[in-house]
Amino acid sequence: MELLKQRILAEGCALNADVLLVDSFLNHQVDVVLMQAIGQAFAAVFAGRGATRVVTVESSGIAPAMATAFHLGLPLVVCKKQASRILAQDVWQAQVRSFTRGIQYELTLKRAFMPAGERVLLIDDFLASGEAALGVLNVLRQAQAELIGVGIVIEKAFQNGRNRLAEQGCTVHALARIAKMGPGEIVFAE
Ligand code: 5GP
Repeated sequence: MELLKQRILAEGCALNADVLLVDSFLNHQVDVVLMQAIGQAFAAVFAGRGATRVVTVESSGIAPAMATAFHLGLPLVVCKKQASRILAQDVWQAQVRSFTRGIQYELTLKRAFMPAGERVLLIDDFLASGEAALGVLNVLRQAQAELIGVGIVIEKAFQNGRNRLAEQGCTVHALARIAKMGPGEIVFAE
């Protein structure tokens, strides 16, 4: 997505070879016009695949996921990052290691919001090691729902998230794919 790539080049800041800061338009300050273009782009890719729900992980995934759900006319469900002492009765949970914070959290999805048989499109802001997406896949499997696609705003293609998801049979579509980066340098993959 050309518009997105231009914003990444203009405003993105590679803190090091692994972490990209895009907080001026994606996940701290949010450009809602860009978000709605992102939602439209994902809707064009995933329309016709029979999704019945869009799912994301709080909090950075919410803006692009909401725009996508709006354009597809689907409900949006937000997985929470909560401590494990939460009631285990009415929720599905999976342990996930946070890429940016380096801590473990319990990805939590209330059972009532994911009935069996749902066909789910996962939208998230970044794909790095794939931990968050695999956590979502885990809770969806517990719920007997099917992950029909994964839409990622920015994929760091030099990390192994896509391969780990492919091993689980998941299709990933990223709007921008970064091949390598470092201070002052961001190179997109083909
Ligand atoms: P993964 O679980 O694939 O390792 O990492 C994905 C999650 O970590 C995303 O939901 C995102 O919030 C966060 N993340 C991963 N890499 C980056 C990055 O380079 N920059 C920012 N801002 N967040 C990232």
